[in-house]
Amino acid sequence: MTGPDIPESHPRYESLLTRHRIEEGVDLGITSRQGLIAQGRGEAFDYLLGEETIPSADDAARAAAAHLLSADQPVLSVNGNVAALAPGEMVALAAATGADIEVNLFNRTEARMERIADHLREHGAEEVKGLNADGRIPGLDHERATVDADGIGSADVVLVPLEDGDRAAALAEMGKTELVIDLNPMSRSAQSAAVPIVDNLIRAVPNMTAHAEALAGEDASTLENIIDDFDADAALSAAEERIRDI
Ligand code: ATP
Repeated sequence: MTGPDIPESHPRYESLLTRHRIEEGVDLGITSRQGLIAQGRGEAFDYLLGEETIPSADDAARAAAAHLLSADQPVLSVNGNVAALAPGEMVALAAATGADIEVNLFNRTEARMERIADHLREHGAEEVKGLNADGRIPGLDHERATVDADGIGSADVVLVPLEDGDRAAALAEMGKTELVIDLNPMSRSAQSAAVPIVDNLIRAVPNMTAHAEALAGEDASTLENIIDDFDADAALSAAEERIRDI
């Protein structure tokens, strides 16, 4: 997917392309208007991080890949921004790790759920969860608590890219291992994650897939060592330092 009038030589090509994809997502009815605000916030942090994957984010992506490969029931949560920005990339990550994909919206409407599920199927997803809505996350109000009982409801490891802080905290409270992609190292989502990946979704997801493919043949103890060696607080501090130093 490329933006219509953005030359690849433009110094901020990736950022403009991302913005274009979100706009297109709103036009298609898969991204909410609040998603535009989240995008703006993300862009500001990406700018401060130098618009590149910093080494600590790469380590986090590798640890997250090891978690997904070791999980009994891994699930990748997809919201309207994720569906607009990286639909094919999420499908590829699911294939590389054996994870399910579940649509999970802050502003849930059945129409938007269906549109996102269709959009993911158009990008190669075979099964998309989230439409049963027969499970709940305790501690949240009705709409935001809704999940599939056989998806996020019973998952042991969940990737929640660009999640809102309340729900991220509630999922962690349920004892799930939470992998978060969020450009803001100070967000509550990043702070409550077992593995915070402080990177742009459009770089982080393909990077996780590459790590998962590289680790696919490794035994359980090697994956466990990668998981144990990862230090979430150190990763958050490294990202904050990068922001202050730039
Ligand atoms: P908190 O987690 O502190 O409660 P919030 O729930 O208010 O934050 P939102 O306004 O929903 O957060 O913003 C979504 C988050 O997603 C922001 O922290 C933003 O930096 C991040 N974000 C936006 N776009 C991207 C992207 N492309 N890649 C990674 N992170 C992004």
